[in-house]
Amino acid sequence: MPLLVMKFGGTSVGDLARIRNAAEKVRREVERGFDVIVVVSAMSGKTNELVGWVEQTSPLFDAREYDAVVSSGENVTAGLMALTLQEMDVPARSWQGWQVPLKTTSAHSAARIEDIPRANIDQKFAEGMRVAVVAGFQGISPEGRITTLGRGGSDTTAVAFAAAFDAVRCDIYTDVDGVYTTDPRIEGKARKLDRIAFEEMLELASLGAKVLQTRSVELAMRYKVKLRVLSSFDETDENSGTLVCDEEDIVEQNVVSGVAYSRDEAKMTLISVADRPGIAAAIFGPLARAGVNVDMIVQNISEEGRTDMTFSCPVNQVPRAEDAMEKARASGEINFHGLVADTDVAKVSVVGIGMRSHAGVAARMFESLAAEGVNIKVIATSEIKISVLIDRKYMELAVQALHDAFGLDKAA
Ligand code: ASP
Ligand code: MG
Repeated sequence: MPLLVMKFGGTSVGDLARIRNAAEKVRREVERGFDVIVVVSAMSGKTNELVGWVEQTSPLFDAREYDAVVSSGENVTAGLMALTLQEMDVPARSWQGWQVPLKTTSAHSAARIEDIPRANIDQKFAEGMRVAVVAGFQGISPEGRITTLGRGGSDTTAVAFAAAFDAVRCDIYTDVDGVYTTDPRIEGKARKLDRIAFEEMLELASLGAKVLQTRSVELAMRYKVKLRVLSSFDETDENSGTLVCDEEDIVEQNVVSGVAYSRDEAKMTLISVADRPGIAAAIFGPLARAGVNVDMIVQNISEEGRTDMTFSCPVNQVPRAEDAMEKARASGEINFHGLVADTDVAKVSVVGIGMRSHAGVAARMFESLAAEGVNIKVIATSEIKISVLIDRKYMELAVQALHDAFGLDKAA
């Protein structure tokens, strides 16, 4: 029988009525002839509560016990979903990660999936089970300990099951009805996209569009899993939501598909560092070892052998970055005249695979920001993305201006 993976996020299983609503959607797919693997998150708010309990109990917690605790939210929803389906006369049972087994690395709290042997679940399907309800976000390490996949990890569980079981599609049910051209809370004229390419979704996810865990999109791209994002609160059919797919499957391609933003950025400048071979390594090596996620980098032209080096990183990593730089200075690895942190910045990006074949996207972006009087502090580009760092107070204005400039506004 063809197999479908259906993933329900925390708000979609937030109470018993919502679990029943989700189970209804599963039952409909079973009636259409699908075997289904359902992947569930914990009830909304549950994982945060569990993380809080761990941190209160043990600030420098043992990551193995952290995983033992925070994985438990999904066990509850998996069991309740299986019971709800059974009450609807749908043959279903629940599976915790270790029972499948979903094998992962031993990187606790950020484990990677290594393998999902099919035999156990396949056997139950062969015996007449129609729905396997799997607890998302969790697995088992080679040492036999419970692991978790990082926050938002149930998306990745779902895609991994879709790949392992050759699912026709992986449907991600959530509290929004799809992927939008930008955040509708910032731009009321944002439109839902019918389709978006994997690469674009990957950029948007890593740029702060929170619908899907970035790693789930990487995995879907690698294994060509058709992913669909749709709302568990709407009536849905085959055409609902947004399909994340191969770019060949997109007929009408805009040059720019979306505008993303992130408020949590900081810009740091090392003033007057000696410009010599190895200087970038001497700066960014210590930052990497301190766990600072450097994003954009700009080195100024040097004057009399000295230059300024600017980089951006998440705003909550500024103290760590400052500490790493001061230590590198103290040990003589680098020297600089000053370190300036600007924590009132935001990053705004335009994303689209159409950029590969269209010139002038950067120019249009900069012109439209200039027309609004927005000053650009740092620019970074990739093949399908242009990002700028600007003053945070202009972020909404910039998102709206770019949304309009690239023809993304929905018809009035
Ligand atoms: N419950 C986990 C979290 O809140 C995993 C997930 O829902 O995807 O991060
Ligand atoms: Mg999520």
